[in-house]
Amino acid sequence: MSASHTPVERADFDKVIVPSYAPAAFVPVRGLGSRVWDQSGRELVDLAGGIAVNSLGHAHPALVEALTEQAGLLWHISNVFTNEPALRLAKKLTAATFADRVFFCNSGAEANEAAFKLARRYAHNLFGAEKHEIIAATNSFHGRTLFTVSVGGQPKYSDGFGPKIQGITHVPYNDIEALKAAISDKTCAVVLEPIQGEGGVLPADRAYLEAARALCDQHHALLVFDEVQSGMGRTGSLYAYMEYGVTPDVLTSAKSLGGGFPIGAMLTTEKLAAHLSVGVHGTTYGGNPLACAVAERVLDVVNTPEVLQGVKAKHERFAARLREMGERYGVFSGVRGAGLLIGGVLAEAYKGRAKDFVDAAEKEALMILQAGPDVLRLAPSLVIDDADIDEGLARLERAIARVVQA
Ligand SMILES: *Cc1c(COP(=O)(O)O)cnc(C)c1O
Repeated sequence: MSASHTPVERADFDKVIVPSYAPAAFVPVRGLGSRVWDQSGRELVDLAGGIAVNSLGHAHPALVEALTEQAGLLWHISNVFTNEPALRLAKKLTAATFADRVFFCNSGAEANEAAFKLARRYAHNLFGAEKHEIIAATNSFHGRTLFTVSVGGQPKYSDGFGPKIQGITHVPYNDIEALKAAISDKTCAVVLEPIQGEGGVLPADRAYLEAARALCDQHHALLVFDEVQSGMGRTGSLYAYMEYGVTPDVLTSAKSLGGGFPIGAMLTTEKLAAHLSVGVHGTTYGGNPLACAVAERVLDVVNTPEVLQGVKAKHERFAARLREMGERYGVFSGVRGAGLLIGGVLAEAYKGRAKDFVDAAEKEALMILQAGPDVLRLAPSLVIDDADIDEGLARLERAIARVVQA
């Protein structure tokens, strides 16, 4: 039994959806693993992973099973009641990380919104209203709500919406002296992505995160790691902070956490969580059984030595080929990132042209991403197999040749 559908096409987007996105010319209709098919039946290799979201590719049998099983049981019950999948997922997340407590929501922006509100509330309760300043990094990305664009270090996302949230300072990323100069006893939180994702797949230096930790401790400020993009196995550790050996007070997770089903989470300690007492914060859908059942299964699959070590091995396979292509065609000045969050930094001659490469890839039936105008970004499934990696990279090479020869 299936409902009859009105035929739709890409052109309809420009008539019925607000023009805040500019989607590709084709319309995907089905996916399996790291392959996607469009309306015309054309098969594409997916190295974009829904922007670091489809952590187990498309239609992974374990996730289909978790979702359909829960769909027959209970979809939504509200936070007036708790539910088994949320409790199971929270137990597993706290067992696997520094955290003692979890707040569930539906997106990365909401997880950060909760983190920033917690940081201000905690400081307010302990030290008073003066201690409310947040320090974040230039070129960072934390989501699209008014608070998160204000904390994010990209004015193109925060300008033009009236007064911004006040009390936010931006400092250059990976610059210890700048952070030292900016932090004070009025600082309630330092917010950092361990790897800047949207900002160009730029990893933090270990010394920078260590210095941030020490400075936060010195000034009674919270260290907040936005791991929305770097988390849930993306780097080959469950969370990137583990890779660095620097533990935050608050960590936000989303994207890969749901493997394609919307969910976000803010993780924190017992001591801080106490400041989110009854009524202080909330969301209708946060922690709903469907999302939590799927995320629980994602965590079960991802948080295993096989998958996490596999991510590191796959990184090497990608990086070696990308460096080779970079040299052959002179397109990359470097390849950076960690695990399966990989950035090809465009060489001087191709600066500003990331979109041209993404468009050329589409012509070669390949889905890739950009991270700003100067970086090509790959964020594929964490369980992509070698054959798909090789086929994807062969298509990427043809795409690069197209741009170079054009
Ligand atoms: C994508 C992203 C967000 C925003 O997540 P949404 O689910 O789009 O709200 C926040 N922080 C980082 C680091 C991200 O990459």
